[in-house]
This record gives sequence, structure tokens and C-alpha cells, in this order.
Amino acid sequence: MNLQALIEDIRQQVLPFYDQGRVADYIPALASVAPHQFGLAICTLDGEHYACGDAATPFSIQSISKAFMLALTLQAEGETLWRHVGKEPSGNPFNSLVQLEYEHGIPRNPFINAGALVVTDRAIRHFGAAHGRLLDWLRAESGAPRLSANEQIAASEREHGDRNAALAHFMKSYGNLDHPVEQVLDQYFHNCSIEMSCSQLARAALFLANHGLSPNTAQQYLSRSQAKQVNAVMLTCGTYDAAGEFAYRVGLPVKSGVGGGLLAVIPGKMSIAAWSPQLDRRGNSVLGLEALDRFTTRTGLSIF
Ligand code: GLN
Repeated sequence: MNLQALIEDIRQQVLPFYDQGRVADYIPALASVAPHQFGLAICTLDGEHYACGDAATPFSIQSISKAFMLALTLQAEGETLWRHVGKEPSGNPFNSLVQLEYEHGIPRNPFINAGALVVTDRAIRHFGAAHGRLLDWLRAESGAPRLSANEQIAASEREHGDRNAALAHFMKSYGNLDHPVEQVLDQYFHNCSIEMSCSQLARAALFLANHGLSPNTAQQYLSRSQAKQVNAVMLTCGTYDAAGEFAYRVGLPVKSGVGGGLLAVIPGKMSIAAWSPQLDRRGNSVLGLEALDRFTTRTGLSIF
């Protein structure tokens, strides 16, 4: 199969979907991104790399950071992490408050904002500077030593972060946050504000396709079982209240972010990153979903 020709063709097929979604504007600094951009990159475990469109353009990874932060924290903490955060799909938007009260401050899963705040809090306990640890790790894995957070976006998130602050305070009232709310939010916003390209993201995610072992650095970050756990939670929770639609149309573990990125894993084979900033009403990239749907449908490469 000629994957390069395939992704070029998919790009042509999805470009007509421009303007069916909207760039996220609840974080004002994200709203200024040029809307008509699309990139797709693939890294295979055989060492092949395929890319097309704007695959080399850095964008705000936003909630895709949650998948990497989960992996690093799971590596440090192990099973007891799941006492603080669940692993069930929420069926609710990523920033919803409603379930938290019924469920006594234990978020449904690590990929909704509440869950990622808890994971960040645990990461602070293990690493001190959770954001610094994540950044160093991403730099090594993506082979891009100058990766960093966009301070302007981090500041914009903080300024408009009342809902995340509410989630954090609420969980603290249940004793499910050890560190001061301000500290956890600051680390979380910086993680979300990291900028990476599709090519860099696909490369950094290879360990999830390779049962926890990174082909980039030869490090075993997760056990085979833990890599399976992270992929499973990505499949069921990685795209929030659209996880069912993604499983149905794409059939892969996927993590999305409101910067318009989608990161997908084909265990045993490859990782794929798609990006286009216009989002559907559930906060997932319109062109990204169209592209991943076509990729798995045309190649037959899905976990099902
Ligand atoms: N930084 C964003 C927020 O906290 C991340 C949301 C997302 O990408 N789904 O709201």
C-alpha cells in the first residue's frame, strides 16, 4: 500500500469540509489561528514517516497533552492512580461539572478536564514540576529539543479558566487534590499550551503503538498491560461525548484537543496525527475526523 499517495488523496477529499466547524474561541488566544489548515502525519514501527499538508506546522496540542501526562503519571504511580480518577466514559462535554458532585469529586476519566487536573496533581507529587517533566519527555521523544508551551495561550487559558478553577476547587473540597489549586491549574494550562506539529506528535506517540516501548529512545515507559490501558481509555474517553462516534467511524484509540489536533494509535503498527483547527460542536476537529474515518475505512486498519 502506498501510504503517501493515500494520505495525499485523503487530504484532497477532506478539504471541502472547511467551514463546517469553528475554531475554538472560548480561549481567546486560540481564536486567531488561521482556520484553513490541514495536516496529517504517520509514523510506523518500521521507521517510516509519511506527511502531507500542514503536517510540519506547530499548533496548540491542548487536551492531547492529557494522554502523555497520563502515561508518565501511570508509569510513576502505577495502579493506585485509579483510586483518584476513574476509567469510564463520561458521555458529557470535556469541561462538564455535573458528574463530579454525584461521584464525590472522583472524575470519570483522565481525559475530561477534571480528570486531567487530578492526574496533573498526582504528577506534581511524583515529579515536582509536572509540566517540565512532560516537556522534557516530549522533546526527547519527538526529537525536537526546542518544543515549548506558548506563554500567550497559557496566560489566555488562565485568564478565562474559571470553569477549570471551579472543577479544581470542587475536587479539592473532596480531598482529591493535594496541591494548591493555583499550582495545579498553572501546570495544567502550560501542558495544554504546548505547541507541536502532526509529525512531532505522531513520533512521540509511537510507544503507545509499540506496547509501551519507545522505538525513538529504546525506553520501556509503560508495561505492555499499561500501554493497553492507556489505549483503551483513549478509545472510550479520548474524544469525550463523541467517543461512540469515533469508535464507530474510526475504530482506533484517539485523543483530541481543542486546538484541532487528533492523535490516533494503531497498536502494533503506527501512530497517526491529524490537525485542522475548525471543530465540531463537541470540540473535535471536523477535517481530522473525516480524514481518520477515511484512513481506517480505506486501509482496513482499525482495532476492530
Ligand atoms: N485547555 C483546554 C481546557 O482546559 C483543553 C480542552 C480540550 O482540548 N478539550 O478547556
